[in-house]
Amino acid sequence: MKTICDWENCKEIGSYKAPIERDNSKKFRLLCLKHIKLFNKNWNYFENMSDQEIEFFIKSDLTWHKATKNFGSSDNFFNILWNNALDDKLNIFKSSNFKEFKKAKISQTDRDALKVMELNEAAKWVEIQQKFKNLVKKYHPDKNHGSKKFEDKLKKITLAYSQLKKTLGKK
Ligand SMILES: [Zn+2]
Repeated sequence: MKTICDWENCKEIGSYKAPIERDNSKKFRLLCLKHIKLFNKNWNYFENMSDQEIEFFIKSDLTWHKATKNFGSSDNFFNILWNNALDDKLNIFKSSNFKEFKKAKISQTDRDALKVMELNEAAKWVEIQQKFKNLVKKYHPDKNHGSKKFEDKLKKITLAYSQLKKTLGKK
């Protein structure tokens, strides 16, 4: 017995499994080759997004003011999310709204780390790298007659830098 592709209005045979929910690989629907490719493209779209970013995407005016396409029966979080992502015209991540949001949503950990590095929250990764080099020079024990105080300071800076590298370094 063959299953028809679960995509809206598609009559092809569905031979490829597509997970229904973001964190639930047990539930899946069957799609044809054309639609599994489209699905994977959109799946990757969200791969590097934080939960906050995904939430913003869903709650965004840009998203809600568009009629969502009907896809499958359940109206779960992920369905809504990726239905909207299917619309290539959406361009939400390029919108100034989203850029503002990204700027505002820096985590408390990163905020503290930037403070340790004497940087403000708008600091770009290249600036952070440059600042780190400068601070290492400034607080290096060799330059401060082995002072314990500066050694601790440098330790904190290094920790802050590696924290920022994790979150900002890959962007
Ligand atoms: Zn299909």
